Amino acid sequence: MKCSITIIFFITLNSNFIYSQTTNSHLYKVLDSLKFITRDIMKKLNIPIRSNVGKDDTLQISIYPSKFTTADYGQKMIFPYIQSKKSIDTVNRWYKEPTISISNSIDSAIKYRVGYKYYINSLSSIIHELVHYYQLSYIDESEYLQPTNQNFQQHLKQSIELEAYSTESYFYLSKFYINDLKKIMRMNVNDFEKRKALCNKANEIKFPNKKEFILK
Ligand SMILES: [Zn+2]
Repeated sequence: MKCSITIIFFITLNSNFIYSQTTNSHLYKVLDSLKFITRDIMKKLNIPIRSNVGKDDTLQISIYPSKFTTADYGQKMIFPYIQSKKSIDTVNRWYKEPTISISNSIDSAIKYRVGYKYYINSLSSIIHELVHYYQLSYIDESEYLQPTNQNFQQHLKQSIELEAYSTESYFYLSKFYINDLKKIMRMNVNDFEKRKALCNKANEIKFPNKKEFILK
């Protein structure tokens, strides 16, 4: 499965792969509309957004070569550092050089719109990373569980991942399975159960043979 978040203060990005806003205007145009969509879905799912997003550097997109539909989010630094507590003020944090890295497969799918489902899946991946960029929830790198085939349940149950997967699932269901989406959104359950239901429905449709992707 795609995506892993990079919550490290210094990430290694090959600057050759960071595309400029002028040469990749198609991506930045898409990013602009996805930002709006992501924030709208996060609001519907009661997922809090960082209040200091406005202090961030401009969000960049970088592209790396891969045949998979994968994406990643990271930033160079997180502010502010509180000297007295020798830690980061995570509630009021903002980012230096925030970057969403996408595979060139995602870039091509968006640029040439090869197959509607593939196109929507590619947009979903960027929405997932946009949630990591916007979300107030925070998990320290040392406590974050990277996904493997064996621990996908535990990976997905982490607050930051459940927020990201449920938002991209909402987007996916809204494009193809609107009645299922409406049914879930009408459920009288808490936020955790609703987010879980969204992820499970989307994963059940996308990966019918992967029972391990369904949260209990
Ligand atoms: Zn993620």
